[in-house]
Amino acid sequence: MGYNIAIDGPSGAGKSTLSRAIAKEIGFIYVDTGALYRAVGFFAYQSKINADNKDAIAGMLSNIEIDLKFLHDEQRVFLNGKDVSDNIRMHIVSDFASKVGAVTQVRDFLLDMQRRLAEKYDVVMDGRDIGTVVLPHAQLKIYLTASAHDRAQRRYKELLEKGQSVSFDKILADVIERDKRDMSREIAPLKIADDAVVVDTTGKTFEQSLDLLTRLIKEHLK
Ligand code: C5P
Repeated sequence: MGYNIAIDGPSGAGKSTLSRAIAKEIGFIYVDTGALYRAVGFFAYQSKINADNKDAIAGMLSNIEIDLKFLHDEQRVFLNGKDVSDNIRMHIVSDFASKVGAVTQVRDFLLDMQRRLAEKYDVVMDGRDIGTVVLPHAQLKIYLTASAHDRAQRRYKELLEKGQSVSFDKILADVIERDKRDMSREIAPLKIADDAVVVDTTGKTFEQSLDLLTRLIKEHLK
């Protein structure tokens, strides 16, 4: 049984960057579960399947095989044998991921893979429902959040750095819409687990947030 640290929270709270850095620091494997939903979303996008059509999304799962591999400490996600780790970062795929994530069959499809990894390895696993659904017995649960404005600003910077042209207002509207969808969906909605520690990074730099989280986790591991 691995030692499990669950990190949940809305998009753009810095979960993935912080979780990756912390996992490295403490020698755990970092599992980014958003990448799994993105891979399913990317398949729908590529196949021109309407992401709002839940039956069509559930139906396409029999054509999908997803695999996570860890190369040089870095997670790579494979969709039907092809490394799609970079493709799934396109802005349009975020929307598809959030829509397919609201389909029960998709969540069931990805659940085993996540649990198997957590059983086998010491993991820092980030997502939306890790502490509440995937790993309810995780030794430590963290809910990482920040204001919608701060989160949109971070996402905006990230996309600009990647050379994608986007407007800040559109990113902010997308963040708010995605939060709403993630928090209000019927299955596995984004919410704070009863036993989670809430960490708010509004106004904090990456280093300050990392320092805060590292201290919290190391204290817990003692
Ligand atoms: O974390 P990331 O932005 O890559 O996740 C993309 C989308 O995948 C989220 O908006 C969310 O709807 C979905 N997701 C989820 N459950 C997870 C991880 C991600 O529903 N554990």
